[in-house]
Amino acid sequence: MYIVKKQLEIAGCHRLDLPYNSPCTNVHGHNWKITVHCKADTLNEQGMVIDFKHIKEAVHDYLDHGNFNELLPFNPTAENIAKWVCDKVPGCFRVDVEESTANIATYIRD
Ligand SMILES: [Zn+2]
Repeated sequence: MYIVKKQLEIAGCHRLDLPYNSPCTNVHGHNWKITVHCKADTLNEQGMVIDFKHIKEAVHDYLDHGNFNELLPFNPTAENIAKWVCDKVPGCFRVDVEESTANIATYIRD
């Protein structure tokens, strides 16, 4: 099995829809660090699991400097973002979304 890991840095803003008082319900920004893990049993014709460039195009180029509430059709929590990224990238089985060094969500496809 081959595994590749692509790290992306994405600037953007969001606000969370929460049923309790939280500063996160106000629009605020993050420099998200998103790590995308992909695997394959065999390599493609180019000798890759997936081209790192295609991961960047699918995730970074869509979200960077954007308003996640406008770009994504769900409450843009780190957990929901991780699942969305995993669904978007072929061969992806794990995504880590880091809002800060202390706040990290991981989605793993079973
Ligand atoms: Zn936030």
